[in-house]
Amino acid sequence: MSKKWFELALDAPENARHVLGISGGKDSAALAVYIKDNYPQISEKMEYFFTDTGAELQEVYDTLDKLEAYLGKPINRLSSSRDFNHWLTLHDNMLPSVKARWCTRVLKIKPFEEFVGNDPVISYVGIRADENREGYISQKETIKAVFPFSEDGIVRDDVFRILEESIGIPEYYQWRSRSGCFFCFFQRQDEWLGLKRRHPELFQKALEMEKNVGQRKFDWGASERIESGNGYTWNQSGTLNEIVIRAEEKESSESEKCKKENIKWQDIL
Ligand code: SF4
Repeated sequence: MSKKWFELALDAPENARHVLGISGGKDSAALAVYIKDNYPQISEKMEYFFTDTGAELQEVYDTLDKLEAYLGKPINRLSSSRDFNHWLTLHDNMLPSVKARWCTRVLKIKPFEEFVGNDPVISYVGIRADENREGYISQKETIKAVFPFSEDGIVRDDVFRILEESIGIPEYYQWRSRSGCFFCFFQRQDEWLGLKRRHPELFQKALEMEKNVGQRKFDWGASERIESGNGYTWNQSGTLNEIVIRAEEKESSESEKCKKENIKWQDIL
């Protein structure tokens, strides 16, 4: 029978490093809390790290502060040596996208691999039992990933409970479904609208980045046309302005529908 994750962790050689990457999201934060509360011998050895892309929301830093206080240990802040614009230029001004996800490689994976070097490492990953994904698995033979939540049957509701009972739920979950850069292309339409309402200055920045790459790529004198569909906008289905307009329209049609349904119920009553 193969070993359970904590047996692997406890049997690891003395010189192995135990690392847990905090993404700023709920799962990795809950995993850090879960291990501290239930496996103190492992938590004692743990090194926490956070790879800062330089485009994080303030709410993420607030969560890190709370978590550091709860864990009683620092969270190492790692970063790529250059800012996002440098990498954007290197990638021919192609905004990252689902198909061209260069941002994760340069802003997240590289700093992590530099942090651990060639040391033997046990890396604790917060993938839950109710998720059907693998996450990032390093190609380095020195890094062994373990999945405590997945093996211990911890699901989404458990994660929310663990956080409610410890550091609280990161605030951005009120309007966003995941952590990450303020301009992350994984955002849904309504999340872009949420960004515009909660952080108008960041939304404006994302808008300008999109305009700049569009204009730089299609600089035809007076023309300021922005192409969509080729990675030159944050979202394949249009420019940010178009997306936000659509989200607003959807929101108002849903609220209209709700009103009508309420009226119907009142009539029936
Ligand atoms: S959060 Fe989104 S944009 Fe930022 S590095 Fe990750 S995938 Fe890329």
